[in-house]
Amino acid sequence: MVLRLSKLFLRTLREDPADAEVASHRLLVRAGYIRRAAPGIYTWLPLGLSVLRKVETVIREEMAAIGAQEVHFPALLPKEPYEVTNRWTEYGEGIFRLKDRKGNDYLLAPTHEEMFTLLVKDLYSSYKDLPLSIYQIQNKYRDEARPRAGLLRGREFIMKDSYSFDVDDAGLDASYAAHRGAYLKIFARLGLEVIPVAATAGAMGGSKSEEFLHPTEIGEDTFVRSAGGYAANVEAVTTVVPADIDFSSAPAAEVRDTPDTPTIETLVDAANVLVPRAEADGGAWTAADTLKNVVLAVTLPTGERQIVVIGVPGDRGVDLKRVEANIGSFLPIAGEIILEAANEEDLKKQPLIVKGYLGPGLSLDAPLLGTEGAAKLLYLVDPRVVSGSAWVTGANEAGKHVFGLVAGRDFGWDGVIECTEVRAGDEAPDGSGPLVTARGIEMGHIFQLGRKYAEALELKVLDQNGKQVVVTMGSYGVGVTRAVAALAESNHDDRGLIWPRAVAPADVHVVAVGRGEEIFAAAEKLAFELEAAGLEVIYDDRPKVSPGVKFGDAELVGVPTILAVGRGLVDGVVEIKDRRSGNAENIAVEKAVGYVVDAVRNS
Ligand code: ATP
Ligand code: MG
Repeated sequence: MVLRLSKLFLRTLREDPADAEVASHRLLVRAGYIRRAAPGIYTWLPLGLSVLRKVETVIREEMAAIGAQEVHFPALLPKEPYEVTNRWTEYGEGIFRLKDRKGNDYLLAPTHEEMFTLLVKDLYSSYKDLPLSIYQIQNKYRDEARPRAGLLRGREFIMKDSYSFDVDDAGLDASYAAHRGAYLKIFARLGLEVIPVAATAGAMGGSKSEEFLHPTEIGEDTFVRSAGGYAANVEAVTTVVPADIDFSSAPAAEVRDTPDTPTIETLVDAANVLVPRAEADGGAWTAADTLKNVVLAVTLPTGERQIVVIGVPGDRGVDLKRVEANIGSFLPIAGEIILEAANEEDLKKQPLIVKGYLGPGLSLDAPLLGTEGAAKLLYLVDPRVVSGSAWVTGANEAGKHVFGLVAGRDFGWDGVIECTEVRAGDEAPDGSGPLVTARGIEMGHIFQLGRKYAEALELKVLDQNGKQVVVTMGSYGVGVTRAVAALAESNHDDRGLIWPRAVAPADVHVVAVGRGEEIFAAAEKLAFELEAAGLEVIYDDRPKVSPGVKFGDAELVGVPTILAVGRGLVDGVVEIKDRRSGNAENIAVEKAVGYVVDAVRNS
């Protein structure tokens, strides 16, 4: 079909939308691809739908290639399955909930693990039915705290979500690998650079997990990579842990007066004056010799507030995102939490905490943290706090610190947590060199869920020996609407969008420039010839629109090839312009179709 601009439901805008923070949002609205309906909720216009469908087609083809079959679930779901897996509670304010006229609870699906699990349980019962991979391309709803950047973080968005079902771990590994391969192909075909990075499984549970991050400055995810090929989400980076230290001959810990030293900096300065350390014992004290105990407050999904203290080397800050990603197994209940520094109110309720002088449990009279029977505060430490390491830390008394407090001898902890900031220059955990940091947008995420959902919802099959076994699952998501935004984000200039061929709303944008009837007749003829040659064509046939506006719109809309029929027609030529390079050539009218067809095929 030839899309005539005189008829196309399209209105391009000169002005940027007021709420647009990023280029993709600005341009997709201005070029008439989407319109905002409510915060984080968008309407798709014809050009936008065309791009969206092309992205979906690439995804469908690659899913089919690994044998995954398409199904389609409702977006409006009953509460019960989500109660069984506890996600009705875990999601907290993150989901949209509603009631029917009888008062029954429903939710708008944020993701569909439960429903897929139940569907397979409904229909399958034998190992012979597996492996199975099924998927859908469906709307998801999440009441994101900060819907932002247009389609990049919506409250309604489209996800391709697949789920694999296997009898054993080897099967899951194979399904996971197949999806991983398919994802790399999808993003390659879309022309979207992605880096698979190790990730934490977060609220989903399960073990192995990778995210596909599209590197860009505007990304919300920080990740690190090494020259040797390591890449991980900051939340998932693991620390290179020093070896345990033999403390059999370590001197006893000693409490010293250190007045007015509530910060690491004041402490280090005072320590070097009051307790100078010999060169042979390590020389001047630095922040890395101190153990900083940071008091955090966790609001659990139940609304309850719990205090957690984290012990880290004083030269490192605590990264709350890393704490949040890794603290789950230490909390009494799974689910979405709010993590923040403890406030005055919290501290008032903890009289044993002396601000600025907080230390772990001492082998003195007043054990505080990490010691059974002491104040019941969860005490977690950074992995660098290895057994035998000695620290300068708070003595739990104002104006006093303890020197030479030995981990594992003088104090214990409830757990070790990856929690400190990851810095450029830190060593990659696999020994592949120092880390550099980068930002990215999460385009896809693959998880080995394992048996968590199958167990909760009792998805079992009979194995070869006639024994009931719990099925093991994987879950694999691609942000489809987010992919459209990311493609726009990484393919534009200051005049507009520049779509990669694979997803462009058309192959060629024919513009009739000028007034003469013969110009319009020639342009229309070319448009239909191009269409007959199998191309998708936008034809700007608007009679009373100036050449400037037409070219402006063509560049804004971003079709990769622009064919202008104008003044050159009297000399038998049209102008064919490559939107990306900006290169324009005059081509004889009779060669124009062949030229454009080649350009499309060769790119
Ligand atoms: P994010 O960390 O960006 O919030 P997520 O980890 O919550 O994403 P998943 O549950 O892994 O997302 O969902 C799979 C994919 O769905 C993501 O990789 C992303 O591409 C897409 N996606 C998730 N949330 C949104 C959203 N609010 N708007 C658009 N796409 C989204
Ligand atoms: Mg994710």
